[in-house]
Amino acid sequence: MLKNRLSTQELKDGVLASDKAVLGRAITLVESQSVKDRPNALSLVNEILPYSGNSFRMGITGAPGVGKSTFIDGFGDFLLSQGKKVAILAIDPSSKVSGGSILGDKTRMEKLVGKKDVFIRPSPAGFELGGVAQSTLESILLCEAAGYDFIIVETVGVGQSETAVKEMTDMLMFLTIAGAGDYLQGIKRGIMEMIDLVVINKSDQIDSQVLSKLIGNFNHALHLFPAREFRPTVEILNCSALNSVGFDQIWDFVIKYETHVKENGSFAENRNLQNLNWMSRSLLNMIQNHLQKNELLKSNIEKFESLVTSKSLSPLDAAKQIFDLLNLG
Ligand code: GDP
Repeated sequence: MLKNRLSTQELKDGVLASDKAVLGRAITLVESQSVKDRPNALSLVNEILPYSGNSFRMGITGAPGVGKSTFIDGFGDFLLSQGKKVAILAIDPSSKVSGGSILGDKTRMEKLVGKKDVFIRPSPAGFELGGVAQSTLESILLCEAAGYDFIIVETVGVGQSETAVKEMTDMLMFLTIAGAGDYLQGIKRGIMEMIDLVVINKSDQIDSQVLSKLIGNFNHALHLFPAREFRPTVEILNCSALNSVGFDQIWDFVIKYETHVKENGSFAENRNLQNLNWMSRSLLNMIQNHLQKNELLKSNIEKFESLVTSKSLSPLDAAKQIFDLLNLG
């Protein structure tokens, strides 16, 4: 049994010793929305930072039902056979609405649950996207410090969550199925520019002509974008996650991709950029938390809200007047 509260040192030692129970608690700490936990979370992340970074981070996005959980279960198992230690995290800003999270039901990953070299963490519930993004990045770092060298970050293909995943991973995979009409939606949402690999799942249910047509459609859509300077050309592969068919080709692509971006320096550059984003996001979070406690703001916000609601003041003017009131300028 673990005692109620662990010190930062105990959390750090446990994480570095790859103790899953402690890792889980360390993640709970960085996910905590309580202001009083933040200093401890900050010092823990700073302590483990020198031990982090040593992994390949793969983001997976796709509409509900395309088979993400099944894929992660099967591919995760494949990664274990390649000697990887696999951590699976999720970004699901909708979890607060649905009440559950994408990885909430761990039984969906039957092959992986209980395996020694696997760590599965559901998405934190009750967060705004910015908060999820911040805590997921910190969770990635903790998993890396615990020795997980292949990190999978799953997200449902809705809204801005792909951008958040892209900002914390090294490669983004788009999982889809025949007939999903997804590839067009993907273009609309601007996801195609972010994707490094397209995988058409449930190949066991698709006849080869439909598959060729689908691959043709994707290739056509991808050619509408300028050639990528530093990342390998996007490939369109297929698999049957259910039957564990097609993982070899996906793995070959991952290796090719990783080698390519590491050799040309864009891997390191991308991580540097991500660190800069992390800095700005953290700063914005801090400012926001700080402002939420501001008495002047608290005592005036309702007045401004009713002025905007009654159309006596435009939202922009209200924002400007609040800003001036806070004397930040
Ligand atoms: P998610 O919502 O994207 O996580 O999708 P799930 O992994 O929950 O899968 C949705 C459904 O598709 C489940 O009933 C799976 O068993 C099924 N499924 C997933 N992968 C495959 C596949 O490769 N072939 C077939 N035939 N069914 C699959």
